[in-house]
Amino acid sequence: MTHESTIHQPAPITLVLGSRNPKKCREMAELIAPPWEPNPRLGRLQIRSVAEFPEAGEVVEDAETFAGNARKKAAEVARALGRWVLADDSGLAVDALDGSPGVLSARYAGEPSDDEANNRKVLEAISAVDDSRRGAAFHCALALADPSGAIRLEASGTCRGRLTREPRGPGGFGYDPLFLIPEYHKTFGELSPLVKHQLSHRARAFAHLRLGLDRMIALGELDATLP
Ligand code: IMP
Repeated sequence: MTHESTIHQPAPITLVLGSRNPKKCREMAELIAPPWEPNPRLGRLQIRSVAEFPEAGEVVEDAETFAGNARKKAAEVARALGRWVLADDSGLAVDALDGSPGVLSARYAGEPSDDEANNRKVLEAISAVDDSRRGAAFHCALALADPSGAIRLEASGTCRGRLTREPRGPGGFGYDPLFLIPEYHKTFGELSPLVKHQLSHRARAFAHLRLGLDRMIALGELDATLP
C-alpha cells in the first residue's frame, strides 16, 4: 500500500451490536455489509458485540412490541458505552397461539433462555393443531442509537412460514428447526445460511436498514460522533 492510499483510506467506524446471542450477532454482522451487495461505505463498519463490554450492564426487555424492545436495547447500551449501537429484537408469532410467544420468544420456556426447551414448548402447545392451521411469522425490529442514546434509524421485517411437528435440521438458532418455508420444503434449520439471508425477517429488516445507514455514513453523520 502506498503512502498516498494510506492517507485517503477512510477511518473504520465502530458499531456495537446490542445482542449477547453469538448466533444472532453473526447473522447481523453478515447482513450489515453482505458480499452480494458490495458497498465501500458499509465496508467501513467494524462490528463488535456488547458481550465485549461488561460495563454495558443488562437491559430489561419489558416493552410490549419488538420495536419498543429494540429501541430500549439500542438506547440504553449506547448511553452506557458512548458508542453507536444497533439492536435487534425478534421472535416468533404463532397464528394458532394468537401471536405467542412474540416478545417473550427467548424466554418462552423460562430463564435462562434455552432453544430446545422453547421448541418443545411450542410443539406441545400446538400438538392438536392440524397442518392447515400451523402458520407462523418471524418478526425482526432493528434500532440504531447514536452515542447519546438517541434513536437515529429503525427498520423491520417479517417472514411467514409453517411450523413442523418435530425439529428439522442443524442450522440456524432458536426456532429455526421448526420453521418451514413451504416453497423450499425445508426449515431454516435445513436451509443454508445464504438462503436464510435472502428470505428471513432479519434479511428483510436489514435490506431497509442498509439504505438508511449508507446514507448516514455518506453524510458523515457517524464520523462526527466517533469516540
Ligand atoms: P431476543 O434476543 O430477545 O430478540 O430474542 C429473540 C428470540 O427469538 C431468540 O432467542 C429466538 O428464540 C427467536 N428468534 C429470533 N430470531 C430468530 C431466527 O432468525 N431464527 C430462530 N429464532 C429466532
